[in-house]
Amino acid sequence: MPPPGLAIRGPRSLLRQIREAMASGGPAQARLNMVVRIIAGSMVAEVCSIYLRRATNDLELFATEGLNPQAVHSTTLKPGEGLVGEIMRLGRPLNLSDAPNNPHFSYRPETGEDPFHAFLGVPLLRGGRTIGVLVVQNRTERVYSDEEVEDLQIIAMVLAEMVAGGELVDEDELKTVELAPHKPERLKGAKFADGLAYGRAVLHEAPVAPSQLLSDDVPAEEQRLGKAVTALQVQLDQMLDGQHGLVGASYEVLETYRMFAHDRGWNRSLEEAVSSGLTAEAAVERVRSEHRARLGQARDPYLRERLHDLEDLNDRLLRHLSGEGATARILPDDAILIARNLGPADLLEYDRTKLKGLLLEEGSSASHAAIVARALDIPCVGRLVGLRDRLSEGDPVIVDAETGEAYLRPRADVIEAVGARMQVRALRRAEFALLRNTPARTRDGAKISLLMNAGLAVDLDILNETGAEGIGLFRTEFQFMVAEELPRLEAQTQLYKRVMEAAEGRPVTFRTLDLGGDKVLPYLEAEREDNPALGWRAVRMGLDRPALLRLQLRALIAASGGQELRVMFPLVASVEEFRAARALVDHEIAWAQRRGRTAPGLLRVGAMIEAPSLIWHLDALLPLTDFVSVGTNDLMQYLFAADRGNPRVADRYDPLSPPALRVMKSIQDACQESGTPVSVCGEMAGRPLEAFALMALGFDQLSMPPAGIGPVKAMVLSSDREAARRAVTNLLKGSAGSVRNEIETLARKLSVSI
Ligand code: PEP
Ligand code: MG
Repeated sequence: MPPPGLAIRGPRSLLRQIREAMASGGPAQARLNMVVRIIAGSMVAEVCSIYLRRATNDLELFATEGLNPQAVHSTTLKPGEGLVGEIMRLGRPLNLSDAPNNPHFSYRPETGEDPFHAFLGVPLLRGGRTIGVLVVQNRTERVYSDEEVEDLQIIAMVLAEMVAGGELVDEDELKTVELAPHKPERLKGAKFADGLAYGRAVLHEAPVAPSQLLSDDVPAEEQRLGKAVTALQVQLDQMLDGQHGLVGASYEVLETYRMFAHDRGWNRSLEEAVSSGLTAEAAVERVRSEHRARLGQARDPYLRERLHDLEDLNDRLLRHLSGEGATARILPDDAILIARNLGPADLLEYDRTKLKGLLLEEGSSASHAAIVARALDIPCVGRLVGLRDRLSEGDPVIVDAETGEAYLRPRADVIEAVGARMQVRALRRAEFALLRNTPARTRDGAKISLLMNAGLAVDLDILNETGAEGIGLFRTEFQFMVAEELPRLEAQTQLYKRVMEAAEGRPVTFRTLDLGGDKVLPYLEAEREDNPALGWRAVRMGLDRPALLRLQLRALIAASGGQELRVMFPLVASVEEFRAARALVDHEIAWAQRRGRTAPGLLRVGAMIEAPSLIWHLDALLPLTDFVSVGTNDLMQYLFAADRGNPRVADRYDPLSPPALRVMKSIQDACQESGTPVSVCGEMAGRPLEAFALMALGFDQLSMPPAGIGPVKAMVLSSDREAARRAVTNLLKGSAGSVRNEIETLARKLSVSI
């Protein structure tokens, strides 16, 4: 007696039989029936059934060999219902020796499946989604071998493509099968960067569907696979050596990628899949499904993270197979980028002129990806649960960052309504543009300086458009993040020169390198830290590696060419740190002078107030500084002990609450007393309501993302600062929690434009 399972190891001959059956023509249902019969015979199984997912999400029995034929098209199961529903829910195989005794077993008398004990079911996966389930059953209690599970998965993959290709299901039937999500959906998330956009979904981690699954020439496929794997390995090695792109991904992630790419197990699985008759592309998909199945359900976030790495690695390998290699993606003109999460520099890899919006499954509004989105004025909504599973590449989508929602495959009336709102926004923008040259003065005559945050050469184009009075925060690390290697002195000097030229005499405050935390450079080796936000970052790194900081200061001094130079240090946590950093500036000035170079006409050195420790040492700090700037993004994260990059906690605390506002007020009071100029350069300065509160507390220099300037100016022009000061001071006295609603009511009562 032949052993149970495939007579010849590997699904190749079985796949050939299926192909032959397909070629015989006839109605789709007859072909499907034939396919289940062939699989049952080949696997020595008494039952083989196919269930497909309807648009209602129910799984329906589409064909069976061995169960009661009357049950076809009448038995349905919900996701999670019965063993078949459970496979759909989990997206991975179930292999049971005694199915009727499994708690998930749901008895359907019409199928007559009670005598069958052994059960093996695998999902039909397409683009990472389960579109159906393929099952084999035997009377005897037995466990199917790992090879049989693998073989059935390969067959399932081929069947999934055949179903989608219309080869196995009638055209009319296919319309109601849920091959890809097609219903309009609305997801609620959180707004990260204001605005509205309508366009087509581009998946950051795009599945590249293999067009051909079966091959007749195994050696040729083996060769293709070998070449692509080598190319991938070389590419990753180069990235790790800092020679090539993929900016933004951390060193650690790349290390993991490299480890996987060289992993013998992974390579062996790919080779085995190819030798069983699959094309190299299909082999990648096959191994990918296996990993998904194994890691996808892991509770451990570390393991799930590894799955994400593997997905990306598989995509890269598919691109190598398609000859695309590591070249940048070509975007449609109305691209809405869809990602689970993004590093700040990942976003900059895309063509900004074509990127109309960004939707993230995770993320937080204070993360640097969100900051970059705001800097580029790309509407962004984050924390959209289940986003990637509900979208296919090219689906129409609306990013509604006014309400923090995403519309997937929106209906015509929704598109129309959003279109109308986009027009209103355009009109308002035009109104703000008219205010460009109007000085920002309150109705009672207080002058408020509105400055812009920048960090990239592209930002400079909009400096004039916004009418900002200067650049209050230039994030110098952005140049480092988008570069493929450490920018040299010349490159740094050039950028700083361009910034000063573009500012045309308006003040520019350069913030020295603020690396660490979530800003990691692939080419700069950094040790893994448990608490990067509290770790070796910003000025700490600069002081420990003075060569890096001094090089930057040298570039800044050279770029200033006799003009005013304003430099500030990020995340100063003690007066000593500021002293030490300032000493480096003096050192570099002396160095330049010794060589007869032009020193800055005027030098202003400042500190960012981001670490709460400084608040109780302003009396010692302020006399040493020429100015300070409050980085509320970091200050709030440290004040409330809430990681700004962690979606679960980042937005839990409101900067419009007494503790935050009192801290801000004490900083402002101390600066006023010592006569030290102070600005606020965190994101809150760019939101009209928050800016209104800051102005009421006495701040008169606000630096913000470019898109904030128009709305904040409209707020200033419509405010009476004295009235605001009185009312907001009162609110701080008795309130327990957030005073956002109270401040909003107040602003409306005072007819302030917020
Ligand atoms: C801040 O922390 O508020 C700030 C302006 O700096 P960054 O967001 O770059 O950390
Ligand atoms: Mg900061």
